[in-house]
Amino acid sequence: EERLIDTSEGHSDYAENGLRPQTLNDFIGQTQARENLQIFIEAARTRGEAMDHVLFYGPPGLGKTTLSQIVARELGVNFKATSGPVITKAGDLAALLTNLQERDVLFIDEIHRLSPAVEEILYPAMEDFQLDLIIGDGPAARSVRIDLPPFTLVGATTRTGLITKPLRDRFGIPTRLEFYSAEELCEVVERGAKLLHLSMSHDGAMEIAARSRGTPRVAGRLLRRVRDFAMVAGSEIVDQKTADQALNRLEVDALGLDMMDRRYLYCIGETYGGGPVGVETLAAALSEARDTIEDIIEPYLLQIGLVQRTPRGRLLSASGWKHLGLTPPKGSDV
Ligand code: ADP
Repeated sequence: EERLIDTSEGHSDYAENGLRPQTLNDFIGQTQARENLQIFIEAARTRGEAMDHVLFYGPPGLGKTTLSQIVARELGVNFKATSGPVITKAGDLAALLTNLQERDVLFIDEIHRLSPAVEEILYPAMEDFQLDLIIGDGPAARSVRIDLPPFTLVGATTRTGLITKPLRDRFGIPTRLEFYSAEELCEVVERGAKLLHLSMSHDGAMEIAARSRGTPRVAGRLLRRVRDFAMVAGSEIVDQKTADQALNRLEVDALGLDMMDRRYLYCIGETYGGGPVGVETLAAALSEARDTIEDIIEPYLLQIGLVQRTPRGRLLSASGWKHLGLTPPKGSDV
């Protein structure tokens, strides 16, 4: 079953493409990243050169793919997309690279999941636009060098710490994406409502924005669910009350947390007395992959201060206890 506020891409996401901003000007939030990209794009265009390689990092659903497409569009070049786990052999990458035209953007999502053998090939390709391939094996094997057209690699990953230092060092433009403020998400929701021809009051949009976990992908999803709810309820306009009722019914709480977030918080609070508890232990107790916990559940809970990461493990904060409506045990660290 799909998590309602799952920030990763799911099968229902074909629908979200209609809401993707197409230009840097249309793109809401991430002011610093946007301003920097604007400059690099303009400089590359003026010189008629390929733009330097970009690494986008940050939690899922914040706009890494969207920005990559925008970069290509604004550079006026082709956009080719692939992902780390799809490129299994060096030959797969070689085929992609040799098919690029000059200055094209090659987007590699989940770039931290490239195999070491493929990564090796990528280094000289990024640095010198050269491909070193071994053809054949055994005594007949020989190495060939192929010149590539200058291109821009855009990599996306959830945390920079996941990729190796040599790879990280080859990106001239490392760009960190941040969670969005409620005001920014309100703009995202209002823009989406307009595209969906849905009438919505400002407080209705604010209600959805405040409960979107700082993430535009979530805002888009909640907007669609609220729209369904309003349609069935026969509401002419989505106001704060309609949005609130719909989100409550979807079990998205006042802070925008869903069942999975609450399970995680209750696990620290009730099962482990508020912590500290190690992430591996939590992963086992919740039957979730450690990566899911660290990449999808925790970043937002850390951001809003419900949990803290300490050297001894995760700790439920005073506001975490309060949000769960529980009292911390006597003598706990909180
Ligand atoms: P990521 O690659 O970081 O997982 P995406 O770029 O796929 O995230 O963004 C997820 C969805 O969120 C997009 O389809 C788009 O509709 C929406 N989105 C992302 N960033 C913005 C933004 N700044 N303004 C409006 N919508 C956005």
